[in-house]
Amino acid sequence: MDELREKLLYQPKNGYDRIDTAERLACEEYCRGYMAYLDAARTEREAVSEAIKLAQAAGFEPLDESAGAIRPGQKVYWSNRGKSLLLAVGGRKPMRAGFVVEAAHVDSPRLDLKQQPLFEDSELGYLRTHYYGGIKKYQWTAIPLEMHGVAALKDGSAVEIVIGRDKTDPQFVVTDLLPHLAQDQMQKTMAKGVEGEKLCILVGSVPYAGEGTDRVKLAVMSLLNDRYGITEEDLISAELEAVPAFDVRELGLDRSMIGGYGQDDRVCAYAELAAILETEAPERTAVCILADKEEIGSYGVTGMTSQAFEWFIERLCGGTCTLQESFAESFCVSADVTAALDPMYPEVSEKQNTARINYGVGFCKFTGSRGKSGASDASAELVARLRRLCDDAGVVWQMCELGKVDQGGGGTVALDMAMRNIDTIDAGVPVLSMHAPFETTGKLDCYMTYKCMKAAYAEG
Ligand code: MN
Ligand code: MN
Repeated sequence: MDELREKLLYQPKNGYDRIDTAERLACEEYCRGYMAYLDAARTEREAVSEAIKLAQAAGFEPLDESAGAIRPGQKVYWSNRGKSLLLAVGGRKPMRAGFVVEAAHVDSPRLDLKQQPLFEDSELGYLRTHYYGGIKKYQWTAIPLEMHGVAALKDGSAVEIVIGRDKTDPQFVVTDLLPHLAQDQMQKTMAKGVEGEKLCILVGSVPYAGEGTDRVKLAVMSLLNDRYGITEEDLISAELEAVPAFDVRELGLDRSMIGGYGQDDRVCAYAELAAILETEAPERTAVCILADKEEIGSYGVTGMTSQAFEWFIERLCGGTCTLQESFAESFCVSADVTAALDPMYPEVSEKQNTARINYGVGFCKFTGSRGKSGASDASAELVARLRRLCDDAGVVWQMCELGKVDQGGGGTVALDMAMRNIDTIDAGVPVLSMHAPFETTGKLDCYMTYKCMKAAYAEG
């Protein structure tokens, strides 16, 4: 009977029971690189600039728009306005044979400053925000924040702004009510307990010397002017993002997990980036996308619905075939995180079909919600292909679904890729506390996602 059970029944196993010491060491080494990247990449712009540094070190060169079709083994990258990045390694087969594309996103939930953010109330200085992406607002109060971004000036130049990352820098906070006086607040639902307009960032308290009104506001603006040469009006054309100031750390006594901000989806972005940087002349051209704007629907010129993708692929084809011919033969892994089973909240998951920490890279046949609405729903053939590909490469993987039926759901860039007539499937790292200021992943799953991405490029 045991033999029959072994033969007929699918029995997923914890990844740590499936890997040897050498692989554990490889996993640790990979995760050190990932943690360093995550620590340095706090915004989509920084995720792109850090990735470019790594790509250049690995021999990638800026795309030469007039160079014709990509050559076998040629390594190129193209930055879409500094907020999204596309990389490619030329395959031995021409672009007409299609390409293998892996698409992750590098934008994460955060607090964006409004365009006219600065004000003073009761002699305290604040910056107003409009949150970006899906957040539980109460999680963003009373935690240390940093400010990252750019102020674009009328003369065409831009000033890069980073405050709070350096250990000697000040940081910021959104305050919350003390429990002693929170009786009314505590009666509200968690959705209403902290309102969006109350997510104002405390930035100063000392008034400018002299007489008059708004002296704290003036003092704050004067400090910004000293450090960056900008005025209040320049903030109108700024993109400033307040992000959690936590360092990326190992979690657990066994150090088996990683805690940090922005792991959705920089954990998959790094996995496919690390994979393409190690890819040499694959069978079919390898393409890596670090997309922007996924958290707000993938719209916008740097999002995955943008024709910037067509523009890039057209350059790789160099007139040797049409885009449609190339797309039709291509294969996409939409690399995005999924929800891990949280034993503290098992009621939102259906245990047989939920991702678990340490069970490897999670394949999602479909995302969406309420009857798969909004999903691209990969074909059975594609799931089989990924099973084979991962098994052949020794990748620990699991099949999963985000939440139980009618509990909610989520989306990725998969549908934007499928819309282009590219066979697409979701695969990524299971995450605990997704979209929180401090997200948790398992090292083994991060490493196995990288192995999966590498195997997909290698197979071509
Ligand atoms: Mn995501
Ligand atoms: Mn997300």
